Amino acid sequence: MSASLEAAAPEAATATEDDAPLYAARRKIYPIAVHGRFRRIKWTILIVTLGIYYLLPFVRWDRGPGAPSQAVLIDFPNRRFYFFFIEIWPQEIYYITGLLILAALVLFFMNAVAGRIWCGYLCPQTVWTDLFQAIERLVEGDPRERREKLKHASRGQRAFEAAAKHVLWLMVAWWTGGAWVLYFADAPTLTMQLLKGQGPLVAYAWIGILTFTTYVLAGHMREQVCTYMCPWPRIQAALTDEYAFNVTYRYDRGEPRGSFKKTEALKLAGLPGGDCVDCKQCVAACPTGVDIREGAQLGCIQCGLCIDACDAIMTKLSRPAGLIAYDTEMNVRARQEGKPEQYRVLRPRTLLYAALIVVIGGIMVGTLATRSSENVAIIHDRNPFFVLLSDGSIRNAYTVRLVNKELVERRFSIAVAGVPEARVEVMGEPKEGGLPVVTVGPDQTTEVRLLVSTHTRLPAAASLDVDFTISDLATGASASARDHFKGP
Ligand code: SF4
Ligand code: SF4
Repeated sequence: MSASLEAAAPEAATATEDDAPLYAARRKIYPIAVHGRFRRIKWTILIVTLGIYYLLPFVRWDRGPGAPSQAVLIDFPNRRFYFFFIEIWPQEIYYITGLLILAALVLFFMNAVAGRIWCGYLCPQTVWTDLFQAIERLVEGDPRERREKLKHASRGQRAFEAAAKHVLWLMVAWWTGGAWVLYFADAPTLTMQLLKGQGPLVAYAWIGILTFTTYVLAGHMREQVCTYMCPWPRIQAALTDEYAFNVTYRYDRGEPRGSFKKTEALKLAGLPGGDCVDCKQCVAACPTGVDIREGAQLGCIQCGLCIDACDAIMTKLSRPAGLIAYDTEMNVRARQEGKPEQYRVLRPRTLLYAALIVVIGGIMVGTLATRSSENVAIIHDRNPFFVLLSDGSIRNAYTVRLVNKELVERRFSIAVAGVPEARVEVMGEPKEGGLPVVTVGPDQTTEVRLLVSTHTRLPAAASLDVDFTISDLATGASASARDHFKGP
C-alpha cells in the first residue's frame, strides 16, 4: 500500500499540545489516483466547467446588424454586459447584485444539505488543482513511482520530467488567462490579434497576471489555499448543523481497526473487530492530506475521493462498501447506541434557503421578463430655475435623456402634462402632431434640451408637478418621468 505524503513533517507524534510548534513545515501532498463513483463525478464536472470556461467566448449569438454577436460579452467601452438574449445596461447593475445574492443563497443551501460540496466539486481552486495534479501524475507517475524514481532514475530524466510538467502547467495557466480576456472583446478577433502579437497591452497584462496566479495557486499552493487562505471553511462551519451530510468515517463499523487477518480472527472468536484494515489508502487519496478517520476537519473539502479509495479496498476484501460515506456524525453515534438513524433534508434552514432562492429567482425572472425597452430621465436646469420671457411667459429648461434598449432605431414624441397651456420645444428637433420628436439610434441613449413655457399666470413661488412621457411613434410603447415647473 502506498502512502502519498512525502513528508517533511516534524516529529510531532510524541509532542504534547504545549510543545506544538507555532510553525510547521509544509508537507507536500501527492495524492494517488483513485477510481470510483465520486472520481467519475469530479471528472465530469471538471470537463463540463472547464469546457464552458474555455469555449464560451467563441459561442455566437445573432443580435442583428451593429450589435456584438458574442453570446457572453462584457463590453466595457460601450458599457454593456451581454448574456445570450439578455443585455444589461450600467443602470441595471442590480441584476448582477441579485445574481450574487442568489449565488450566496445557493452556496448556503448546498452547505445545509451536504457541507462543503461546493469546495469538493465546483470551486475553481479545486477544479484547476485537480487538473494540475492529473498532469503531474501523467508526467511524473503516481506517488509510488515518484519515490522509485527518486531512488533509481537519472537526474537527467527527473529534470526532464519536472521541466515537462512545469511547461504543461504554464500552458494550461496561460490558456486560462487567455480565455479570461476573451470575455471582454470579440473572441475570434482578439485571438488572432494576440497570436499575431497585435493585441492590446492590457490584454497581455491580464493574461500575464492570470497565468501567474493560476500556475502558483493550482500548481504550487494547492490545498494551502483551501486550508489557510479561503474564508469559506470558517464561515461554513458556522452555517452548518448536525443534519448536514459530510464525508464521514463510520467508526462504529471501522473500529477497532487492524489487519484483515487479525480482525477476521477476532470476529471468528466473537470479539469486536472493525472493518478498517488501516491501509491508509483514504489518506493517500486525499488532496488535502486529511485522515478522515480522525473526524471532521477544517482541511476536508468533501471531495469524496477517500470514499472511492476505501470502497476499492473493501471490495477487494469482500467487505461491504461505505466504510467512509456521506453521512452524519449523529447517525454514527445513533447506530452505535442502537438507535434509529435520522435523515432530515427537509428542515427549517434548508426550506428557508430554498424559499429565498425561489423568491429572489422569481423576482429576477419577473423583472427581466417585464422590463421596458425604453426609458426617460429628466434633469431640471438649476441656474436659473426659470426665465421670464419678453412676452411675459415663464420658461423652464430641462435636460432629457431618452433610452432605447432595442436593436433598431426608434422615434419618440415627448408630451408634457401638468403645466397649463404648455408650449414644448426640443432644440434642433422637428415636431409631429404638435409634439417634438426625437430619434434615438439602436441600443443607444440620446440627450436633448427641452424648453417648456406657459403664458398662464402662476401663483407666487409656484412649483408644479410635471409628467414627461416619451412614446414610440411606431409601437406606442411609452415611459414617463416626473419633475417640476417653477415660477417666480
Ligand atoms: S478527507 Fe476525503 S473528502 Fe475530505 S478532502 Fe480528503 S479525500 Fe476529500
Ligand atoms: S481506506 Fe478504508 S480501510 Fe483503509 S485505512 Fe482508510 S478507512 Fe481504513
